[in-house]
Amino acid sequence: MRCRVCNHEYDEKLSSCPNCGFLTLRITDFPETQDFGASMVRQYRQIFLDAFSIRIRLYGYDKNLTLKEEKEIDITRFPEIEPETNYWLENPVCHKDKGDGLIRLPVVITRNQETMETSLAADISGLGENFHLGLRISGEMQACILFGDEELYVQSEPVDIM
Ligand SMILES: [Zn+2]
Repeated sequence: MRCRVCNHEYDEKLSSCPNCGFLTLRITDFPETQDFGASMVRQYRQIFLDAFSIRIRLYGYDKNLTLKEEKEIDITRFPEIEPETNYWLENPVCHKDKGDGLIRLPVVITRNQETMETSLAADISGLGENFHLGLRISGEMQACILFGDEELYVQSEPVDIM
């Protein structure tokens, strides 16, 4: 069977998922049980989402390309994140001089109470200078940063949430 929280495939004789620990729920024909199951899945996912964050490091330059400001934006703080849904930050970012279009976005990732600095690669060659940043969580509990808008976007390499 497949875990309803993390999509991991495992033996249904086990009482819980060996990947994320969620209890084995068997699908029944009773709608009220399904609703209950769905709300348990959501709550269990939220525990992992609450303990997870990706903060994006953004740098602002003046016209002489001197660094003027540096800020971190937490891209994982949208209320009630559902899987396979796109969430966008309201304010666009501007990225001039894209070179070959491959960027490595500097990020700080917190997961399982550990924090690490890394970067996420994405090919933004098909986008204009101004675009929005967004977040998408897959059914396998991986996070991707989105670049663009709902009409046209690309996504970064995925990050495991668990
Ligand atoms: Zn699982």
